[in-house]
Parts: sequence; C-alpha cells; structure tokens
Amino acid sequence: MTEPVITGGCLCGRVRYELCGPPLDMGTCHCRNCQRWSGSPFHSALAFALNDLRFTRSPPVWYESSSIMERSFCSSCGSPLAFRYLVSIEDLTMANPETVWISVGSLDEPEIRSPDWHFGVEGQLSWINFDDGLPRTRCDESVGLAKAYASQEGDQADS
Ligand SMILES: [Zn+2]
Ligand SMILES: [Zn+2]
Repeated sequence: MTEPVITGGCLCGRVRYELCGPPLDMGTCHCRNCQRWSGSPFHSALAFALNDLRFTRSPPVWYESSSIMERSFCSSCGSPLAFRYLVSIEDLTMANPETVWISVGSLDEPEIRSPDWHFGVEGQLSWINFDDGLPRTRCDESVGLAKAYASQEGDQADS
C-alpha cells in the first residue's frame, strides 16, 4: 500500500511539489532568521524525508542562509517553501541533510498535522500567546547547534 501523496506549492503556482511519504515531525520556530525569511512572527514547518520530495513544475531557488542551513523560495512570488539543515544537529529532532522542512502554509491541505514544539522562543514576539502547553526551547539550549556553529567560525546564527 502506498502513502497518499501530499501536495503543495507557492502563491503564484510556479513551484509545485509532491511528498510521497508521511510528515515525520512538526514544529514552530520563533527565531529571528525564520521571522525574516517568512516575513511573519513565527514559522511552522513539517519534516519529511528529502527523498520523498519531488518538484513537479519549476523548482524553487535555494540559498544558504548560514553555513548550516539552506532555505528556498519561489523566484516569481517569493513564497518561502522549505528549509534544510546542511549538517546533522545531534540534539535537535530531524535536523539533518536527509530531512526537508516544508512551510505549513504552502501545503494544499495545511491541517494534516499540528506542531509538537516551539523553538527559538527567545525571538517570540511579546504579543504572540500560545496556550498549547507544548515544549519551548531557546536556540542557545541546543548543544548540537552551538557545536555546529563553533565548527563554522564567524557564522551568523540560524535555526
Ligand atoms: Zn510562486
Ligand atoms: Zn528558526
């Protein structure tokens, strides 16, 4: 039996994707880089195996937002679509190059799953109030993230 295909894409329709496997995790990040990339107070994303992702029209543009992460967007409309860690972060769930994180708002059916945690909460805006009881972690609480940056001297923090 094959998994139902999950589909999504950008606002203008230039980028469309299919995911042939299930979401493995979901979280919400409040860090400054996710705020700038998404243009929103926080960014929620679902993890999938990179091998399960296929772009069916034009691919998005990928750029390295830091030495440990690349992020993508549509070259026509700018929708932020996905990010991927370029190195494995030992104490963060699904933070490795074999996993791709898809922006929940880009899914055709964004209600397929809800988040399990908050990250980067040092950047959470004062007027955002979640009453979901989910675990909350600051970027600097991840030893693995600090290690990854230590090996990339002079790099701008990103998560
Ligand atoms: Zn677009
Ligand atoms: Zn972030």
